[in-house]
Amino acid sequence: MVRLEKIVLQGFKSFMRKTSVPFPTGFSLVTGPNGSGKSNIGDAITFVIGRGSSRAMRAKKAQDLIFHGSKTKKGVDSASVILYFDNSDRSLPSEEKLISVSRKINTRGVSTYRLNGKVATKEQILDFFAQAGLSANGHNIIQQGDVNQIVEMDAIERREIIDEISGIMEYEDKKKKAMRELEKISEKVKESELVLQQKEELVERLGKEREAALEYQKLQENLEKIKAALIWKQYRENEKGMKLIDEKLMEKEAAASKLGEEIKACDKKLEDAEGSLEELTKNVLRASDQIEVSKKLANLRASIELNRERIESNTREIERLDSMIDRLRSMDRRTSPAVKAVLNMDGVCGMLSDLVVVPPKYRVAVDVAGGGHLSDVVVENTSVATACVKYLKSNKIGRARFLPLDRIRGRPADSAPAGSMGWLSKLVHFEPKFTQAMEFVFGSTACVKNIDDARKISASSRARMVTLDGDLMETSGAVTGGFYKKNTGVTTDVTKYTQ
Ligand code: ATP
Repeated sequence: MVRLEKIVLQGFKSFMRKTSVPFPTGFSLVTGPNGSGKSNIGDAITFVIGRGSSRAMRAKKAQDLIFHGSKTKKGVDSASVILYFDNSDRSLPSEEKLISVSRKINTRGVSTYRLNGKVATKEQILDFFAQAGLSANGHNIIQQGDVNQIVEMDAIERREIIDEISGIMEYEDKKKKAMRELEKISEKVKESELVLQQKEELVERLGKEREAALEYQKLQENLEKIKAALIWKQYRENEKGMKLIDEKLMEKEAAASKLGEEIKACDKKLEDAEGSLEELTKNVLRASDQIEVSKKLANLRASIELNRERIESNTREIERLDSMIDRLRSMDRRTSPAVKAVLNMDGVCGMLSDLVVVPPKYRVAVDVAGGGHLSDVVVENTSVATACVKYLKSNKIGRARFLPLDRIRGRPADSAPAGSMGWLSKLVHFEPKFTQAMEFVFGSTACVKNIDDARKISASSRARMVTLDGDLMETSGAVTGGFYKKNTGVTTDVTKYTQ
């Protein structure tokens, strides 16, 4: 059985100084006058292993347990109580024979517990003593008034105290505590079952996923094998292909080598050709010098030819101008005053010789064949002719012959005699509106080269004929001819009607 062997107090309630209260074996009794501090010793035991409430120790708060001074002594700032228990019979769960347990409190109300000198919590100390049947709420310490209270209790309350003293109460408490824990555990079991169910579902799902993963792994392995087989096959094919390429490469290299030789030969030929080309180039340069000279010569010749043509052209132009001057002089001489007087009248077209254009070749023939008709005045109509005649008469200017275009008619056209050059009217040029006047004058005279041709033609034709040099064979057979002095009044500017 656990036995309290000694209490050491210091600063606790009325015990200012360190005081040791021994409890030898057997029955111990504390005596003394009222208020001397007997009950304070019991409070000291409660202070360490009893109920925690200050009221149980007859104090309002924990700090009131510290010695607060007396008339002659000052108060202290802490209170401590150490209990020493004899544990020779090992009632307490420790190998120590003497167990010390203490509590110290300071003015701030902070408590420090120690068990065998080591700091411990209050619960640890209470648990330690509970194992030896020393409960903080038990009736190990009977305070003043406790006996009266028990006497006044009813049977149930008293039974509870007995249960508590005998330890049953503790087991009841433990039982209740165990029941509560059992409920908690049941709840936890239910929760665990729920979690388990979820885990099982998870395991099942993971199992399926595992199977799928294994299947995938298997398929992946197969795929890798197939890929490897394909790569191997491709590699073999590539190897064959490489072999073929190597062979072809060798062929190409041989061909290239051959071509190289050919190129060398070509280079040699090219070098030779370049030598020849150089020589040729020199020759060409020499030749081109000669060509240049030839070109210059040709240009000079062309220039000379051009100048010659220009001279000829200018000569012809001079001749033409001379002829024109002659004609104008002649015309001025031959034109009678009567003709001159009417030329500017209304409806007068002009003198016939001015209205015909004769190529130089036929000029003499036209002069001879036209004769006096070359001075005829061509007028638009008979009224104009009448007016002109009246004008000349009234003014006593002279006479003139008029060819009114509305009345005058030439010989009906038929084919010219064979062997002739054609009717003279067809060999000269004029404006279409003068056709009848021109046919009247030249339409019945054929142009022949010479008098011999005229003679021959006259054997089969009675046509009037004139030669290019001015001989005339009339239809009657009369021939007029000889040397003819050129003094024609007709124009030879054939471009006027041929352009
Ligand atoms: P009674 O025989 O009348 O029961 P008692 O011997 O048991 O008396 P206690 O009640 O133990 O005496 O002691 C009371 C005394 O302790 C009082 O004199 C009181 O002044 C003193 N006391 C209580 N608390 C303190 C304290 N904190 N500081 C100083 N003295 C205190």
